Amino acid sequence: MNHAGDISLLLGPAEVHPVHEYNDSGRSPFLLTCDHYGRLIPRALGDLGLPESELARHIGWDIGIAGVAERLSKDLDAHLIVQRYSRLVIDCNRPPNAASSIPLISEATTIPGNEGITREAAAMRRTEIFDPYHRRIDEIIDTRRHSNMPTILVSLHSFTPVYAGIARPWHIGTLYQRDKALPSLLLRALRAEPDLVVGDNEPYAVSDQTDYTIPVHAEARGLMNTGIEIRQDLISDQAGEKAWGDRLARIFAEIEATLRAEQLR
Ligand SMILES: [Zn+2]
Repeated sequence: MNHAGDISLLLGPAEVHPVHEYNDSGRSPFLLTCDHYGRLIPRALGDLGLPESELARHIGWDIGIAGVAERLSKDLDAHLIVQRYSRLVIDCNRPPNAASSIPLISEATTIPGNEGITREAAAMRRTEIFDPYHRRIDEIIDTRRHSNMPTILVSLHSFTPVYAGIARPWHIGTLYQRDKALPSLLLRALRAEPDLVVGDNEPYAVSDQTDYTIPVHAEARGLMNTGIEIRQDLISDQAGEKAWGDRLARIFAEIEATLRAEQLR
């Protein structure tokens, strides 16, 4: 990708581009997205006024999902697109007009670097991080459509095992709103795994107010889709990431076979 023409006021020339892709020639119908993949902060924003112990927590990014997503992309031969800056800079799965887009507080932590942010500064985060990511997802889906390649969007996330003092029992959750077809296939497959406690729209459900990637890229285009949330303590090391990447690849391969068989009927 050539970004040489971009005018950047937030990200310096030596800084990492927010959008990164894996296996962009992957042939799988599943298109994988990872909104909270990274925890980088543009140099100009310093540390957002937070210590490393806060920035490394789940409030900064989706712990463990990067390794799962990369493994799944490889195993499934699926195109994966990720966003590498912290959700505390701008949350790429929130409508930009939502209060939680550039959060002033996350769980119980206030974010000093986001307090009193000017409209211009907020717009810059959107222009340089949020927009390029979502523009690229749009382009990818358009390109696939033009080459008659089906797209089933799978939005990958991870969740903290304890939120606001409450322990969460699920190992994995399926998240959805308008598409009920793929989530029900996925729920059935996950529930057939004897060792799993599976959340049905838990710990979160998709909504237009609290999500962006699924409503805008999948639902608005009528694409099959699902969100997935994996509990972070299960994917906190390489062995866990590999095990979950491999498990999901096996399950999605089965689902693909089911979908293809149904279309043939
Ligand atoms: Zn997430």
